Amino acid sequence: MDAIPTLGPALVLPPDTGGLSGFVEVDLGAIANNVRELKRRAGAADVMAIIKADAYGHGALPSARAALAGGATWLGVAQLNEALQVRAAGIAAPMLTWLFVPGADVDAAILSGIDLSVSAPWALAEIVAAARRRGTTARIHLKVDTGLARGGARGPGWTELIGQAASAVAEGSVEVIGVWSHFAYADAPDHPTVRQQQIVFEEAVAELAGVGITNVIRHLANSAATLTNPSAHYDLVRPGLAVYGLSPVPDLGSPADYGLREAMRVVACLALVKDVEAGAGVSYGHTYVTSEATRLGLVPLGYSDGVPRNASSVAPVFADGRRMPIAGRVCMDQFLIDLGPRSTAVAGDPVVLWGAGEDGLPTAQDWAAATGTINYELVTRIGPRLPRLYRGDL
Ligand SMILES: *Cc1c(COP(=O)(O)O)cnc(C)c1O
Repeated sequence: MDAIPTLGPALVLPPDTGGLSGFVEVDLGAIANNVRELKRRAGAADVMAIIKADAYGHGALPSARAALAGGATWLGVAQLNEALQVRAAGIAAPMLTWLFVPGADVDAAILSGIDLSVSAPWALAEIVAAARRRGTTARIHLKVDTGLARGGARGPGWTELIGQAASAVAEGSVEVIGVWSHFAYADAPDHPTVRQQQIVFEEAVAELAGVGITNVIRHLANSAATLTNPSAHYDLVRPGLAVYGLSPVPDLGSPADYGLREAMRVVACLALVKDVEAGAGVSYGHTYVTSEATRLGLVPLGYSDGVPRNASSVAPVFADGRRMPIAGRVCMDQFLIDLGPRSTAVAGDPVVLWGAGEDGLPTAQDWAAATGTINYELVTRIGPRLPRLYRGDL
């Protein structure tokens, strides 16, 4: 397979997209390239590619394989179910999962060789019980809350947790593989909390050594810290967004500035074009009114597909050789664009919502800026009605 071909200003569609209302092209070569670049920056540290949320909308399994081909040696997912799906597909790489609730099927995780994050005594107790039941040793990563106040144990809670962990290690029901935490301000590398969280992290690791748990993999850095803060790399880095070629620090640098390539392109085909008169109200509420006689194009994607409703009239698309904003409200399944009076566009012509930004095409970051959110939210919310088409050499 070749890399995603540049559509060029003429937007020539690949042959395998015929008849699709909309689709997502995913450049697996870009994912492999991005992981290689992250590994290069990580130096001696290993790379855990984060493939949660269906690999940020790119498709968990193909993305996982591409990331491993690019040199990731670990995978990370939020939910236990996501981890089990990766194992069910035969992917055996070390993998961490960190978000589960009391009563979750930790037996299945342990039997599948999935590493479990532990933030609280109840979680450790359930894992220990499962390991005893199964006559095996569970692999855990102890999570310390160094200041985000999300997952992890904090202060006296950490002391209590690692005391329990030491007992579980002694009886052979768990092996502590890692110790880890997560930043609150990784995207602002000079923020004082960054250094402060690293200090708390290092103290937590020392306290862990004090109860006899040593030789554990220390990991703290997400994409932003991987790219901007080598002192936070420790033994393993956990990039997600950058794996997919998006900048986690858009104010500090573009993907290209970091040697990354956007892997996702969202494309739709016009379902209808029609010529309307000046003064025509367009879409619900007529928030857009044509200023002259013009040609409208109907794009068959809507907020149920992950095109945010607040993209109405503001987010850019590329169609008919130029960039233009959405015209009026985004509906559940469709939105309109004003192609202009001289347009020769016809039904079936392609419309790019976002991609790698070549030839002036919009990017997910352009959409994030237009809609007041982050590129993460846009790519992860593209829905299942859009087939993912995989391109690229690994
Ligand atoms: C999502 C996530 C990551 C990856 O974050 P990016 O900013 O996408 O690199 C790393 N660690 C944890 C705990 C996460 O939840």
